[in-house]
Amino acid sequence: MPILVMKFGGTSVANIDRIRRAAKRVGVEVAKGYDVIVIVSAMAGRTNELVGWVDEISPLYDAREYDAVVSSGENVTAGLMALTLQEMDVPARSWQGWQVPVQTTSAHSAARIEDIPPENILSKFQEGMRVAVIAGFQGISPEGRITTLGRGGSDTTAVAFAAAFDAERCDIYTDVDGVYTTDPRITDKARKLDKIAFEEMLELASLGAKVLQTRSVELAMRYNVKLRVLSSFEEQSDDAGTLVCAEEEIMESNVVNGIAYSREEAKMTLVSVADRPGIAAAIFGPLSEAGVNVDMIIQNISEEGRTDMTFSCPTNQVARAEKAMQDAKTRGEINFHDLLADTNVAKISAVGIGMRSQSGVAAKMFKTLSDEGINIKVISTSEIKISVLVDRKYMELAVQSLHDAFGLEHAA
Ligand code: ADP
Ligand code: ASP
Ligand code: MG
Repeated sequence: MPILVMKFGGTSVANIDRIRRAAKRVGVEVAKGYDVIVIVSAMAGRTNELVGWVDEISPLYDAREYDAVVSSGENVTAGLMALTLQEMDVPARSWQGWQVPVQTTSAHSAARIEDIPPENILSKFQEGMRVAVIAGFQGISPEGRITTLGRGGSDTTAVAFAAAFDAERCDIYTDVDGVYTTDPRITDKARKLDKIAFEEMLELASLGAKVLQTRSVELAMRYNVKLRVLSSFEEQSDDAGTLVCAEEEIMESNVVNGIAYSREEAKMTLVSVADRPGIAAAIFGPLSEAGVNVDMIIQNISEEGRTDMTFSCPTNQVARAEKAMQDAKTRGEINFHDLLADTNVAKISAVGIGMRSQSGVAAKMFKTLSDEGINIKVISTSEIKISVLVDRKYMELAVQSLHDAFGLEHAA
C-alpha cells in the first residue's frame, strides 16, 4: 500500500481533544487506502518547560542528559496518539526513536539522522498494522544514548521517514494554514504562498521562520520529498496549504518573497584584540570547538595594531562563547580588554531567489529601515538574502515596514 507521512506539531497535539482531532484526520487517510506514518511533537509548551528545568539546574549542561530530559515530551504524545487510533479501531502502534531505530550522530541536542532502517515498521504494516506513530525529535547515537535533533526537529523526523519509506507525500500539520510571506503573527498583511521554492524555504527557515526546521527542508530537497505545510484546524482539500517544491515549478515570483526574523540572536564584541595574522583563527577556532554557531562577523578598522571583533551567535550559546573566549585568553592564545554581550538584538532578513538577477534590494532595505529611524548594527548578505541586526524593540516594526516596502502583500 502507498505510504503517507503526517506530522502533527505541538499545538496540534496540545490536549486530548486535539489528539482526537488529529487522529480523525489520520483515519481519513487510512480509509483512502494509505498506510500512515504519524510523527508527533510534544504537547505545546512541554519541550520549553523541560528545557527550562535543565537550564535551572545547569546552564552549561551535559548535552547527553539534556537530551534524556527534553526528548521525553514526544514519548507521551506518541503513546496517546496510538491509543486514540486504537479506540477508533485503527490498528496502530507507537515507537520511540531508539526502537525504530532512528540512528543519529552523537552531536547531542543537535544530532543528525544517519539512517532509518525500515524493516521493523514495514513488517508490522505487513501484519496488518495501518498506522505507525513515531515520537519525533529523537534518535539514538552510535554509543546507544538518546539524542535530539535540535528545536523543531520533529519536522526533520517527518521528512527523513518520508525519504526512508519512499512516502507519496509528507504533510506537516501545524497551527497556520501554510507558509506565509512572513510570520502571520507579526503582520496581518502576511500572505499565504501556494508554493515556495526549496532554496527560499531553506533560507527562511535558517533565518528564523520556525514553520519548518532547516534540516527538514534540506532533506526534502536532497531526496525530492513532496513536502506540504497545512493547518490541522481547518478542513482540507487536496491542494490546501503550501507546497515546498523545485524552483522550476513556480511560475511567478516577487524579487523578495519572504521576511524572516530571529529573536534568539546575540551580538558579542571582543574589545581591543591584537590585529595580527591568525587572530581570526585564534578566536573562531575555540568558538567552533565549543559548539558555538557563529553567524555574522565584522572586524573593525585596526588602530595601532588593535581592533574590535564583533560576531553574532544564538542567545543560548552566549555562556559557552564567553567561556571559550576567557579560556583562550587564559591559555594566552588571544588577548582582549573586554568581552561585551548584547542580547537585546534581533536579526531581520529579506529572502528571494529574484535577488540573484536584480540589484537594489539592499539599498531599499536600508532606506526603509532608516526611514523608520531603525539603526542597523550588523549586515550580512548572500546570493538570495540580506540580513541585519537591529535593536530588538524594533523587530516588529522592521518586519512590517519591510513587508510593505517590498510589496509582499500582493502576488507578483
Ligand atoms: P509546530 O508546533 O506545529 O511545529 P511551530 O510553532 O514550530 O509549529 O511553527 C509554526 C509557527 O511558525 C506559526 O505559528 C508561525 O507563528 C511561525 N512562522 C514564522 N514564520 C512563518 C512563515 N513565514 N509562515 C508561516 N508561519 C510562520
Ligand atoms: N518538541 C520539540 C520542540 O519543541 C520538537 C518539535 O516540536 O519539533 O522543539
Ligand atoms: Mg515546529
